[in-house]
Amino acid sequence: MKTDMDRKLRDFLGAKTAKTFADVLEIETVGELLRHYPRRYLKKGELTPFDELEVGDQATVSGRVKKVTARALDTKVEIRPDDVYKFRKKRTITKVVVTDGRNDLELAFFNQPWLLTKLTPGTAALFWGEVTMFRDIMQLKGPGTEILDEEDLTEAEIERRARPFRPLYPATAKLPTATIERSIKIVLDSLDDRVDDPVPDVVLRNEKLLGLRDALQKVHLPDTEKDINDAQQRFRFEEALVMQTILAQRRAVMDAQSAVPRPRQAGALLDDFDQRLPFELTEGQAEVGEEIFADLARPHPMHRLLQGEVGSGKTVVALRAMLSVVDNGGQAALLAPTEVLAVQHHKTLTKMLGDLAEQGMLGGAERATKIGLLTGSLNAASRRTAMLDAASGAAGIVVGTHALLEDKVQFADLGLVVVDEQHRFGVEQRAALSAKSGENTPHVLVMTATPIPRTVAMTVFGDLAVSTLTQLPAGRSPIQSSVVPAKERPDWLQRAWARVREEVGKGHQAYVVCPRIGDDVKNAKDEEGELLETDEGGKKQARPPISVMQVSEALAEILYDLRVEILHGRLPAEEKDAVMSRFAAGDIDVLIATTVIEVGVDVPNASTMVIMDADRFGISQLHQLRGRVGRGKVPGLCLLVTDLWAGSRSYGRLDAVASTTDGFELSRIDLETRREGDVLGVAQSGRRSSLKLLSVLRDEDIILAARHEATRIVGVDPALSEFPELLAIVRSALQSETTEYLEKT
Ligand code: ADP
Ligand code: MG
Repeated sequence: MKTDMDRKLRDFLGAKTAKTFADVLEIETVGELLRHYPRRYLKKGELTPFDELEVGDQATVSGRVKKVTARALDTKVEIRPDDVYKFRKKRTITKVVVTDGRNDLELAFFNQPWLLTKLTPGTAALFWGEVTMFRDIMQLKGPGTEILDEEDLTEAEIERRARPFRPLYPATAKLPTATIERSIKIVLDSLDDRVDDPVPDVVLRNEKLLGLRDALQKVHLPDTEKDINDAQQRFRFEEALVMQTILAQRRAVMDAQSAVPRPRQAGALLDDFDQRLPFELTEGQAEVGEEIFADLARPHPMHRLLQGEVGSGKTVVALRAMLSVVDNGGQAALLAPTEVLAVQHHKTLTKMLGDLAEQGMLGGAERATKIGLLTGSLNAASRRTAMLDAASGAAGIVVGTHALLEDKVQFADLGLVVVDEQHRFGVEQRAALSAKSGENTPHVLVMTATPIPRTVAMTVFGDLAVSTLTQLPAGRSPIQSSVVPAKERPDWLQRAWARVREEVGKGHQAYVVCPRIGDDVKNAKDEEGELLETDEGGKKQARPPISVMQVSEALAEILYDLRVEILHGRLPAEEKDAVMSRFAAGDIDVLIATTVIEVGVDVPNASTMVIMDADRFGISQLHQLRGRVGRGKVPGLCLLVTDLWAGSRSYGRLDAVASTTDGFELSRIDLETRREGDVLGVAQSGRRSSLKLLSVLRDEDIILAARHEATRIVGVDPALSEFPELLAIVRSALQSETTEYLEKT
């Protein structure tokens, strides 16, 4: 079905402009251009607040010039306004300071000395370019400019600039916002009064939304604040409706899937296990257990997310679910994000089960099973055994990394897949494991210590049921955290090492975590401490993050009499294993490690963690790391070391981590400081997201309403045959990255 929206831009704009849109923004059709919404609006006569800018943004701002200077780059001679023409062929830099009335922004122009006479103090202008940081000052690098009160304009220009609100588009130097604005005006003017709307009429009426034609006009050329709000509301709803329609369709498919019911069996392995548990289950653990058993008993696959604070005891819950499946003659797979963690899980489960995991062995219990381990670095023989055990069904539980996902790995009867620390696992990988059990889909339990707000879970995971463990097991010690500003207070860093020594003196152990390994020759020679600043082009290069190797060298002197060892991802598997075992056995005092220890590692005697260059880690990651201490009766201590100055924004993040151990609170802070794409986990892709205006964090009401409408639509017309425009936009969303995961799970 062809509509006006599918027409090529080159039918409306010059061939050159159309090509620039295609090259720079991958925009080729009328519809794509019209859905390139303004990022902000400039109210006539107002300046854009600079404090909303973020480094890396392609931003358009309006500001008033405060100061302008120019100098020759070679001779460093200051250029005077009268001399500008003399320098027109020289390498020059013109620096302009503009203000929004409160904050300043620095602009750097190369080889444009004449700007000295154009951008005189008091001039108001639009500037656009990439936001960068240079010596702690925000800059726009080589920006484009448009002087606002310029004379000699065409009538169309005068009209354009006289509008009460000017749209500011996500733009680049090659495609300034003014060009986008002009092009959109041309395209809009040529559009029919009525265009096909993907949002069905009945939904527009129910939700009191603007129709598409009206909304496009108002989003691009608003006359009032209300126009902007109404139009954005409509497009947000549309985005939510598309996602929720996809999810509703998937729910319909899932409801049709079948799974082998695995009801709880009395007097079997699970009961044996429960009887020998060395502790009482917490109330939460018991409750979640019941929820899971109920799910497992149904003839449809379970899709459950188990979220619980670090240390809340998710492993036991998962193990009980796995045993229940084994009791039904099925198998369970536990997928871990790293090798270290897989090995650790295998050990923990084996220990917890004791002789219940010694099937066929001397001394094994009567009703026993076997736990297999399958990771990438097993030798050929162990690998063969593990694969045989999985394929024959001898192993009731198989623990592994992504190696479990390989095609060669077969299961006799895979009934349950447990995914630990979901944020490290792609949806495709989960799907690959699901594919291993023939026409019956396995039950799936996803565990995470990073709590996910309800709307995000609803959007990203479609319809996972969510269980939450809120209590920590009794007897857990509190963790005390502090930020150590190493540059401002070098003495505090000294004190930190003294604390480590004291803790070891009391018989405890410590982790020192670094953001980088640093075992390659080049980086091993990194200068320490100082920022490497280069003036050219206004680039600031921060020094590389501190490495395990550097810290190891330094601590060899400071903690010379302690048993200090290192652990990182590039050590051979046996060595990693050996180091972890020695640490667990108390034969190592201080372990200098990368984030390989981030999740799951459980050594209750470890009391202290020093995180170096803590600002290089995300909030959730710091919280996760910190969860490695305070796991036993020993109170935990976490020191967040940073070179940042107190008062900077990133320092504030560290302060937040230090001031609360509430993972839900921290997750909220973390998500709020990220961009939408990151929330959905697709930031790195660079592909276009189908969410442009909708915020899965803020727009809960819209998402709920859209879900309601989508469920109704799909309920009566699952194939959307009555809603061709909606179907078309759903299809195109499915091709974009944001929703790619939705197709698979
Ligand atoms: P996480 O939820 O972070 O994965 P774990 O499952 O690793 O936490 O549990 C952390 C520690 O708490 C483990 O040593 C585990 O044996 C212990 N644990 C779990 N449940 C309880 C309980 N109900 N009472 C006491 N200790 C428990
Ligand atoms: Mg865990």
